[in-house]
Amino acid sequence: MPWATRGLRVVTTGYPHTPDDYGGSFRAAVSPLPGARWEPDMAQVCPTGAITEHDGVPRLDHGRCIVCGRCVRRFPRAFRSDAAVETAALLRDALVVPPLRETDEALARVRAALARRVRRLRRSVHIRHVDAGSDGTEEWEIAALLNPVYDVHRLGIFFTASPRHADILLVTGAGSAGMLRPLRITVEATAAPFVVVACGTDAISGGLLGRGYATRGGVSEELAVDVWIPGSPPSPFSILHGLLLALGRFPKGGPA
Ligand code: SF4
Repeated sequence: MPWATRGLRVVTTGYPHTPDDYGGSFRAAVSPLPGARWEPDMAQVCPTGAITEHDGVPRLDHGRCIVCGRCVRRFPRAFRSDAAVETAALLRDALVVPPLRETDEALARVRAALARRVRRLRRSVHIRHVDAGSDGTEEWEIAALLNPVYDVHRLGIFFTASPRHADILLVTGAGSAGMLRPLRITVEATAAPFVVVACGTDAISGGLLGRGYATRGGVSEELAVDVWIPGSPPSPFSILHGLLLALGRFPKGGPA
């Protein structure tokens, strides 16, 4: 009965030590194609203002992109959808493509400072997830980290209900007005050293909601973000990438 044994078999991903076939199947980002030239309509087609012009070429901010695909459909010779796993970044500017000029230097500084801070968090870490006005999509992907496929516990990463026990604050949502105070209280209650991860385009920039009377346009004004995970929502692989990036835990020669 091979079908029965196949159905009962649970294949836990080997990521980040070994890549998975389905890891790159998530539509994770949209990028300008090499040689693409700027057209005035490009800015209008994007509902979140992610596309801007720079020196006659389109520049795309993954921190604003909700991966709706409108630019790819309207300008197929200028933009493409990327299936990717490693989409998180240590620097907000690193989410912009083509990259901003000073990103490499700034990235090295940030990476070194973060490595010093997380030195003591290498073995077993606990995450406190804070929903600061999410639409719920990121929560589905975060919950998937606990299933047998991603099994985040195998990496020594656990979730906790209390910020007192947390090493990582994983923040989702556009920064809704009602959640700003609870977010501040959570930050104050978390013992140093801890790392802040903004999970999803909404947490980075407010996404489709942007900034308004009810939302802050992301959470970075309320707390110092260490790792940025774009996507609307990011896949469980991308969230894993962000968490491991925060902890400096990518194995040498691994997919990252
Ligand atoms: S995919 Fe959508 S949100 Fe992203 S840059 Fe294109 S139009 Fe803007």
